[in-house]
Amino acid sequence: MARFSIDLKSGNLADQASEIILGIDLGTTNSLVAYVNNGVVTTVKDGKNERTLVPSIVHFEKSGEILVGDVAHQMLIHDPQNTIYSVKRLMGKSFADVQAVEAYFGYQVIDDGTDNLVKIKVRNRFYTPIELSAEILKSLKIRVEAELGRTVSKAVITVPAYFNDAQRQATRDAGKLAGLDVLRIINEPTAASLAYGLGKTEAQTIAVYDLGGGTFDISILQIQDGVFEVLATNGDTFLGGDDIDRSIVDHWTQKYKLEINPEFSSKSGVQSLRLLAEKAKKHLSSNDEFRTTEKGIDFHLTKPQFEDLIKPLVDRTVACCGLALKDAKLTVNDIQHVVMVGGSTRVPLVKEKVGAFFQKPVYDNLDPDEVVALGAAIQADVLAGNQKDVLLLDITPLSLGIETMGGLMDTIIPRNTKVPCKAGRQYTTSVDGQKNLKIAVFQGERDLVEHNRKLGEFILRNIPPMPAGLPKIEVHFVVNADGILKVKAKELRSGTEQAIDIKPTYGISEEDMGKMLLDSIQNAETDMQVRAILEAKNEANHILLSTDKFVSQHKDILSEAELSSILSLQTVLKIVVDGSDKDLINNAIENLNEYSAPIAHKVMDVVIRQAMKGQKV
Ligand code: AMP
Repeated sequence: MARFSIDLKSGNLADQASEIILGIDLGTTNSLVAYVNNGVVTTVKDGKNERTLVPSIVHFEKSGEILVGDVAHQMLIHDPQNTIYSVKRLMGKSFADVQAVEAYFGYQVIDDGTDNLVKIKVRNRFYTPIELSAEILKSLKIRVEAELGRTVSKAVITVPAYFNDAQRQATRDAGKLAGLDVLRIINEPTAASLAYGLGKTEAQTIAVYDLGGGTFDISILQIQDGVFEVLATNGDTFLGGDDIDRSIVDHWTQKYKLEINPEFSSKSGVQSLRLLAEKAKKHLSSNDEFRTTEKGIDFHLTKPQFEDLIKPLVDRTVACCGLALKDAKLTVNDIQHVVMVGGSTRVPLVKEKVGAFFQKPVYDNLDPDEVVALGAAIQADVLAGNQKDVLLLDITPLSLGIETMGGLMDTIIPRNTKVPCKAGRQYTTSVDGQKNLKIAVFQGERDLVEHNRKLGEFILRNIPPMPAGLPKIEVHFVVNADGILKVKAKELRSGTEQAIDIKPTYGISEEDMGKMLLDSIQNAETDMQVRAILEAKNEANHILLSTDKFVSQHKDILSEAELSSILSLQTVLKIVVDGSDKDLINNAIENLNEYSAPIAHKVMDVVIRQAMKGQKV
């Protein structure tokens, strides 16, 4: 196997096997972080109260101190104006996007007029959702560092499958701001399926039902050859555990006439009632009755009463499942597995109804709050190079190709192709008797390889001597499931072959990748012109060579006039080929071709006649 050097930029992906990369579920209600250490997936607990979930809540103290998680959650009651929750809903959104639901937020969501992205005003300062999410991520990072006793800097972060580019970018930026190198943004349903180890073997179609605190998502995924494809998503961005709590609050408010009770009608009274409803709901997931006395009221709720209250909500989620299936052009019979995600799937009625709809038992043995982070951690571990048998889910971020004549990039696998993937193309030699062929592999979108990034090269040696154009050299690219690009070149007539392995995607930072794409767009026009000139020059050189060969082989058959005309047309072509006018070159090629084609036919006839002389047909 050929030796080669790859100019991989370090610092973007773990190259040591022991490196820990975090898997982060940055949720609307709760966030959590997990990692794989020596093959064991662990969710990170808060040192003090052993909880893995960190409420996605940020509180700003008067002193300037920023609190995140449970402590901030407490402040929702005491200081709601300076306590920010559900910031995920605002990620990558403009003020216009959220204006309709502005009332939902207990804090000030504003348009400060500087740009059209939404801001949050806290204590006379404006914060972007990215900055607030970064605070949550920072606190998760600190948690892990406290547990491990060392710094961590790399992460995989999950986002809903329906997140658009702006929302994904905002999530990535939040990671960066928190001091994390975000290696990958992956879809939450994909992470959940990974946590259950689904799709490792045969192709499968999976439904991921995610009912969280404030949102409901149903995703239909198809997993084939390690590639997770989202076939359809549906859901409701304002339907979740909070609505379940609200239905209990409404029930109690009516039953105990709480709107006229000062203990429960003030802002903090309403909040404490909401927390009590949530407590009742959680209790009823494993008990038949809830009863407690608070501020003089004997609160009571039975499981059947609770189920009656929430039945319409659960039915709405099931209707969304039907719509998602319809969009995916599938029926329940096509779904092999149903994965449950989100704290609200602990409600027994939810499991029952979803199982009944899909006509199969649901996957619920992993903690539904942790399943996304666990999957993200598994993906992170794959990226760290620690799991060889798990398939890597990716697309090629930049095109992969080889250098052809004149320094042109010939793309073999275009950018955004799902991996694993393979593609091949046939090439030939440009010089008679050529024994070696250099295969230089590049990554990028520009037409000239000098503007792209070289990944490696090797030489296909010992091609048996043949006239130019005769060898059939097949160059084959395979990007396998673990992200390794294997390049193989084989001369088909002789069977000579050579191969190298290249790590194509990770040596490049996001920034560089963005720059390369931008360059390719900005230079598209010039690149196209340069490519056209180079292609014309390549063709001209090829024709000049083959004409020389033809003339020297058949001098005796050609007339003086023919010889001199060919020579003068060749001379014209030789002059223009050094210039940079592609039209002149192409014209000269055409003139030479037009003149020499009938002569070539005539010569062929003579040659055949001579060969046939004296032979019986
Ligand atoms: P998530 O957004 O996935 O973190 O989901 C949090 C939601 O799950 C909140 O609405 C919680 O009240 C709800 N939840 C947590 N535990 C339970 C439980 N045991 N039973 C019902 N709902 C729960």
